[in-house]
Amino acid sequence: MNVLIIGSGGREHAIAWKLSQSKKLTKLYSAPGNPGMAKLGPTAAIDISDNEAVVKFAVDKNIGLVVVGPEDPLAAGLVDALEAAGIKAFGPSKDAARLEADKDFSKKMMRANSIPTAEFHSFENFEDAKDYIATRDTGLVVKACGLAKGKGVYVCDEPSEAINAAEEIMENKIFGEAGEKIIVEERLSGPEVSILAIVDGRNIYVLETSQDHKPIGEGDTGPNTGGMGAYSPANIVDEKLMDRIIGEILVPTVNGLNMAGAPFRGVLYAGLMLTKVGPKVLEYNVRMGDPETQPILMRLKTDLLEVMLAVCEGRLENVNLQWDKRPSVCVVISSGGYPGEYEKGKKITGISRAEAMEDVKVFHAGTKIQDGDLVTAGGRVLGVTALGENIEAAREKAYAAAEQINFEGAYFRNDIAMKALK
Ligand code: AMP
Repeated sequence: MNVLIIGSGGREHAIAWKLSQSKKLTKLYSAPGNPGMAKLGPTAAIDISDNEAVVKFAVDKNIGLVVVGPEDPLAAGLVDALEAAGIKAFGPSKDAARLEADKDFSKKMMRANSIPTAEFHSFENFEDAKDYIATRDTGLVVKACGLAKGKGVYVCDEPSEAINAAEEIMENKIFGEAGEKIIVEERLSGPEVSILAIVDGRNIYVLETSQDHKPIGEGDTGPNTGGMGAYSPANIVDEKLMDRIIGEILVPTVNGLNMAGAPFRGVLYAGLMLTKVGPKVLEYNVRMGDPETQPILMRLKTDLLEVMLAVCEGRLENVNLQWDKRPSVCVVISSGGYPGEYEKGKKITGISRAEAMEDVKVFHAGTKIQDGDLVTAGGRVLGVTALGENIEAAREKAYAAAEQINFEGAYFRNDIAMKALK
């Protein structure tokens, strides 16, 4: 079977690497792909926001399965367009993708299905939001309802801060259309955990746990990024808590979407806060996280293509995922200055030295080929991922491999997975 992967980040390279091991695979295409993915099969320079162009490419190349990595094409209905053309696609429909793309929809779905989440109000104009916030005297969280690349959330200590946040989003329109509506919600506290599950419309299969590291600085300091590293497993969730998360959150979410006429197929990612009264949903994503996908897939032993086809065909009950018991750690190497401004086009060396180490894989994210050289092309450049007998060994190996890689301004956090050792 020919497979097409949509996307160009570390997540998509990890998916491509795993799919390339499948016995069922004939040819692996990616669009737009990256230089790491290009080693696994042809890349296509098609516009992934143009559903028709993707469908035409898939028909021309006799693609049997399209895997959609990022949220934007999911929210734009790429899966619906492919399915209408008779092509299987891994990922939710446009309606089900609203779980991530429209926070007002997801909060109302949670309320209607008694899924634990922060109390909230939604607003379509700034004056109403301001009047409401002025009546509160507790910490609040203000969120743009649409897709804002993970940046549309303001956690505020004081109502005055929350009013400023609402003004930035609604009046100054810093997230454009994504901020036409906002949610103002109660501020929760507790440790955070993300639970990822594959869902075929009915059946739910929870994946191995993982923990990412959003802030740029060591000790979780400084501004948030797309993610500076991750490890798996993350043992903060015991069996009893997992049962509660499945029963109180995942099952009613999948049922709620079915009742709303938007069955969910793909990866459901629930970002949770473990509050004193139990787990509550902070947000949903409708696809795998990046970089968490890298350490998770490093540990997957089962044929990913078979699993994805089972999801598309609604027969997840036949799937039994096998995992490498060894933990894995992914260290992201970023461009100096990221998540602020940074320079691109810096020559990268040392990847083959890093990959010569046993159980090490270097996933590309912000890279490109320029005049025959591999150079930096984005904020997060590479994800250096390693397996080890325990977290400490996996950490040591990932860092030893990361040390082999050089480019001007290269930066990584030195404390990825330290939390797991405490
Ligand atoms: P989200 O994109 O909705 O997950 O929000 C991004 C981050 O903001 C989360 O990972 C939390 O750290 C924080 N956050 C979101 N909602 C709340 C909330 N209701 N209370 C406290 N922190 C929150």
